[in-house]
Amino acid sequence: MHASPMTQLPETNLLLKWFDKYGRRLPWRHIGGAHPNPYHVLVSEFMLQQTTVATVGPYFARFMDAFPTINALGDATDERVYSLWAGLGYYSRARSLHKTAKIIVGEYGGMLPDDRDKLLKLPGIGPYTAASILSLAFNRYAPVVDGNVVRVICRLNGWDMPTSTIMDRIRDAARDMTDPTRPADYASAIMDFGAMVCTPKNPACDTCPLRDYCVAHQNGTVDRIPVILKLKKKEKIGRAYVIKNRGGQIFIRRRTGRGLLAGLYEVPWTDDGAPVIDAPGTDTGIIVTHTFTHIQLTLELHIIECDAPGIDGMFVSPDDLGAYPTSTLMKKAFAALCRAGMI
Ligand code: SF4
Repeated sequence: MHASPMTQLPETNLLLKWFDKYGRRLPWRHIGGAHPNPYHVLVSEFMLQQTTVATVGPYFARFMDAFPTINALGDATDERVYSLWAGLGYYSRARSLHKTAKIIVGEYGGMLPDDRDKLLKLPGIGPYTAASILSLAFNRYAPVVDGNVVRVICRLNGWDMPTSTIMDRIRDAARDMTDPTRPADYASAIMDFGAMVCTPKNPACDTCPLRDYCVAHQNGTVDRIPVILKLKKKEKIGRAYVIKNRGGQIFIRRRTGRGLLAGLYEVPWTDDGAPVIDAPGTDTGIIVTHTFTHIQLTLELHIIECDAPGIDGMFVSPDDLGAYPTSTLMKKAFAALCRAGMI
């Protein structure tokens, strides 16, 4: 399946025909060329990293109501951005999007650059997001390669070796398949095709417009492709410390640093069970579990009665916890404590 980028493969034509008829009309999507508002592409691409279209829908609408322009987003406080992101997870994306908006306003006069190297220098934008932005916002020939594309290409070609060992071949095939005359629509089409037809489980091969070109379908190997070698997640047992003062308030602090949860509020916790303050605590017997990208965390919840923990943070009423942006892990912990009547 090799052709120069200017040669149209029959699979590409069929895919675009299918898209013209069945492609999803999404709030952030423009069909038929470059998006008239590249800011919509920027926000949606950040939100869609690791999150489904169905989940992103209402968040995108609220975000756009609050920050209708890139200048509005650049001017917003961290707190406001995090609170509108709360629940989408992967908060580092919100932080990076906010920083990126500030840079675009400060250095590019509020105009998203249509240059790959400049895009790659912006926080939170890697090769995939840069290619998506170039395709969708500017209708540039910039082949996108994500899990959907890898799956479709491996099945079309019948490639049953681990994907990590053939990424160059997959990228070449993705380049060959991308339509140079309609790059924006093609990028949307391959995403929709992977989400609606060539799905990870039970793909709709019987009605698939590409089945005559699909080696995996002809060989009966669809269920085995793609072959993705999974890294085993590291298991950790951590401990969270719910510090309560005599007034029944809870001690929270804002997480610093650059990690996944930076900027969010939490009760002090460690992922190795190490103590955070020098005061005796009581094991509540409650545990919450959460899966991060590479870690499976089990968190034991301990209560400490203390009026002056001696670390940075503040006491707040349990009723006010909802006013502070927190991670899904903390939401699980607070909900478990509430159910047990402990806060
Ligand atoms: S025939 Fe099946 S496996 Fe092949 S591209 Fe279509 S949906 Fe995917």
